[in-house]
Amino acid sequence: MEFAEFAEHAAAVEATSADTEIRDAVVDLFEESGEQLPVVVRFLLGRVFPAHDSTKLDVGPRLCYEAIARAAGQNVTADDVEDRLAEYGDVGNVAASYDLGGQRGLAAFGAGGRDGLTVAEVADRLTELARASGDGSQDTKLDVLFDLFNRADPPEARYLARLVLSEMRIGVGEGTVRDAIAEAFDVPVGSVERALQVSNDYGLVAETAREDGVAGLDGMALEVGRPVQAMLAQAGTVTGALEDWGEAAVEIKYDGARVQAHYDGETARLYSRNMENVTDPLPEIASGVAASLSVPAILDGEVVAIDEDGQPRPFQAVLRRFRRKHDVAKAREAVEIRFHAFDCLHADGTDLLDDPLVARHDRLASILDPAANVERSELWTADDPEEIADIEARAIDSGHEGIMLKNPESPYTPGKRGQNWRKRKPDVETLDCVVTGAEWGEGRRANLLGTFELSVRGPDGYETIGKVATGITDEQLEALTDLLDPYVRAEDGTDVDIEPAVVFEVGYEEIQESPTYSSGYALRFPRFLDVREDKDPDDADSLSRVERLVEE
Ligand code: AMP
Repeated sequence: MEFAEFAEHAAAVEATSADTEIRDAVVDLFEESGEQLPVVVRFLLGRVFPAHDSTKLDVGPRLCYEAIARAAGQNVTADDVEDRLAEYGDVGNVAASYDLGGQRGLAAFGAGGRDGLTVAEVADRLTELARASGDGSQDTKLDVLFDLFNRADPPEARYLARLVLSEMRIGVGEGTVRDAIAEAFDVPVGSVERALQVSNDYGLVAETAREDGVAGLDGMALEVGRPVQAMLAQAGTVTGALEDWGEAAVEIKYDGARVQAHYDGETARLYSRNMENVTDPLPEIASGVAASLSVPAILDGEVVAIDEDGQPRPFQAVLRRFRRKHDVAKAREAVEIRFHAFDCLHADGTDLLDDPLVARHDRLASILDPAANVERSELWTADDPEEIADIEARAIDSGHEGIMLKNPESPYTPGKRGQNWRKRKPDVETLDCVVTGAEWGEGRRANLLGTFELSVRGPDGYETIGKVATGITDEQLEALTDLLDPYVRAEDGTDVDIEPAVVFEVGYEEIQESPTYSSGYALRFPRFLDVREDKDPDDADSLSRVERLVEE
């Protein structure tokens, strides 16, 4: 296909605004693309390479302006090109505003009077440009671009410039391309969508749909070495997760950087969340993954920076490892890291995307033997909010960010920010409550106060609003028992009546109306945060503040 023809179609799409007409125009283009279909599909999305391929053109606007200026003639400078941006709106329109090719002799024209640039040739030359590296690479890139612009007529120059700077601006997004593939080759959108998830290559999916139809699409599978988009999380609450799923899979939320590890049986390659190959900056993780796995696999996880005691450090530290492309050894010395694998997308030739989370995690456990710098993240299933609160308290206590709640039955959906993974929302508000009662613990904790009754100030005295038993370590329980002991007024079995004296700061997810407590409200998912030593019971929160919070 001639690049001029591609440009003509792109212009037709750009001139259209209704979604269905845009899709029809894209379908037309797909039907006429012939052998070049995969390239055309990528070009439409402003890409030269598939999404899983992190090869970059690495062409900045300035280099593009220079190439256009050179092709526009001796009197034009890169500054002139840049100056036209304000008037013409974007680099494509600026490129199209010049009579490019003044530098070529008449002999350069083919028989038809035009120097036919093909789609394939543009793709090949841009691949060559992307490969240029090291000293002199900018000159090579400039030469390639100049040559391409020099042979382009105005519509070609418009889309060439935009392609080079990865901004096609013709109103075609990934959704349009997905729908157009389905329509052009008469295959179900669902099959196209799934094939895109596993391959991350719009060009390959279009070609497969055309050549092998729905069977071809459904047969597409993950490939070790071809990264897929990460499954993402939404914010959510423990109470919401338990209501929706009955029980939740709970994991530590690590404060680091997402990494997908691909092990082919010999070596491991690592990819960042935006699918850049980050194997080189993280060599000890790559070798650790290879050492820990017994079969080829694709793992999902988080790389965390750790201090000399193995405690997690804030995620800014890990970023220093990612940024460092050259002096890796030095960066490695400064920032020690660890990979927490929390999911398994593929193991030993089998894709696991459609398996339930708990089954994928079991598979992970069966193939991963922890090695240096590599650990398997633990997954707990729980239906009791208190148990979840305990896991969260332990996670935070050991320096992690918090917890993730996952639907135990859910598949792995690449690129989706759905409801199946939820990061527990941090508490927006906390309440300062007076401790008015407690219960003695059981078993090992029989000598310690365990559950604490919480109250707020009402017009006629303290009114109960909940009980807190979680978020408290054994050490803290001992300190709290000592602190409350002087205020014990009466005991009845394990129940203890306590004189209002001590104020707890508590976190919660929600306040609900409830007949259980005398305030008429109950805290959902209450957690102990701290003792407010600076506060007397008179300074604790009031029932009217609770009422205001409920109304908000
Ligand atoms: P956020 O970046 O705040 O939207 O939270 C989602 C991110 O948390 C994910 O993209 C992961 O990089 C990270 N994360 C940390 N621990 C986990 C975990 N156990 N499961 C899934 N994602 C996690």
